[in-house]
Amino acid sequence: MKEANSKQRIVILGAGESGVGTALLAQKKGYDVFVTDKGQVKQKYQDVLNRNEIEWESGKHTESKVLNAQLVMKSPGIPDAVPIVRALKAKGIPLISEIEFASKFTNATIVGITGSNGKTTTASLTEHILKQELNVGLAGNIGDSFAKQVLEHDYDNYVLEISSFQLDGCFEFNPHIAVITNITPDHLDRYDYKFDNYIASKFRIAQCQSASDYLIYDGDDPVITSYLKSNSIQSKLLPFSLKNEVENGAYYKDNTITITIDNIKTTMPTTNLALEGKHNVKNAMAASTVAQLLKIRKQTIRESLENFQGVEHRLEEVLTINKVQYINDSKATNVNATYFALESMSAPTVWIVGGQDKGNNYEELFPFVNEKVKAIICLGVDNEKLLKTFGNMVDIIVETQFMSEAAKIAYKIAEAGDNVLLSPACASFDLFESYEDRGRQFKDAVRQL
Ligand code: ADP
Repeated sequence: MKEANSKQRIVILGAGESGVGTALLAQKKGYDVFVTDKGQVKQKYQDVLNRNEIEWESGKHTESKVLNAQLVMKSPGIPDAVPIVRALKAKGIPLISEIEFASKFTNATIVGITGSNGKTTTASLTEHILKQELNVGLAGNIGDSFAKQVLEHDYDNYVLEISSFQLDGCFEFNPHIAVITNITPDHLDRYDYKFDNYIASKFRIAQCQSASDYLIYDGDDPVITSYLKSNSIQSKLLPFSLKNEVENGAYYKDNTITITIDNIKTTMPTTNLALEGKHNVKNAMAASTVAQLLKIRKQTIRESLENFQGVEHRLEEVLTINKVQYINDSKATNVNATYFALESMSAPTVWIVGGQDKGNNYEELFPFVNEKVKAIICLGVDNEKLLKTFGNMVDIIVETQFMSEAAKIAYKIAEAGDNVLLSPACASFDLFESYEDRGRQFKDAVRQL
């Protein structure tokens, strides 16, 4: 465990969960701490900062108090393009993420999970399995701040959900086990609209790994496999696959997951897997491989896969009304997530889609729409593109800007045996505060039918 140089000044940009957690840990480690947030700071975070006598400001960034930092922790939500970040970069002041900072103060075994989709599900499932036998904290993009957990609990193991924005601020961070669930284009506005930059960001999770560390990844993902072909990575590679019987790693065949690590084979049936859909078989393979590496008993892994109840807003079964199943997949904020949602539908589906489009290309959804979707309800401020794209593909396509109305229309259209699926493939910010808000409004509307 490293000790901080007591005279070092750390400035924290963004007083949210990761910022306030970092402030607490940095203070404990003897740093001179200053927290600054251009927006409003939530009351609960104001209280924590005040109680701990940490200096902070909101509504501005006072340059004279920021540009004298030796180290800056930037919240992942703040883009590099904002003036204060530019000014810091111009002065050559190092900008790091909470993950980078907090990991220096723990000797725990770290499992880092990134990817375009499936991070939360895979991280939650992994933690669910590990916690049966190990002392483990779940942090990163999820739940309580990692830094705060390092300060207050000092767990022996952490499962960290890590976004590309957090990885951009990682330089020495070295998870013993890294997972990349998949890589599809997302957030390109923060990567100069270059997919390659985003891919490189995801692989930062393995940049410090050595031959004694592991990289678990989707071996069926062409983006990942082609990156691995043309870049040298030190880590031991453990792919998982739905298609091929891999020698090292995990594969799925005949309703069974087979995991091979160092010539030791383990098999697990998936017939009673709690989560549905092929994507969740992938998530289960990733999580089980981690568990296997950390020597969790096979029986424990198997039982945990069977009783894991999933995460809110991810293919969450809400209610069955008149034999119609209502499913909340509000977290599907891109086309790839919706692809797996539609793929997993085994009944005719009334599909609620739309929101803030991120330059979506819907083509890969066409086969599922033709095969499974009986009606489309567009729910966004601007539904033009959806109406144009899918207008000829289904008999019924309507639009609305109200969740309650969307639910009512779905209720009218759906017949016994059908599904009603909210899987928007778009961001939520045109009509809702967040995907959580969108999902909750959907569930409320369904309950009122
Ligand atoms: P993230 O944290 O990366 O956003 P989530 O676990 O929250 O991922 O899931 C986001 C969306 O992607 C949900 O709609 C979920 O059903 C879907 N999803 C989950 N796992 C995968 C996967 N392995 N591949 C593609 N989509 C997935």
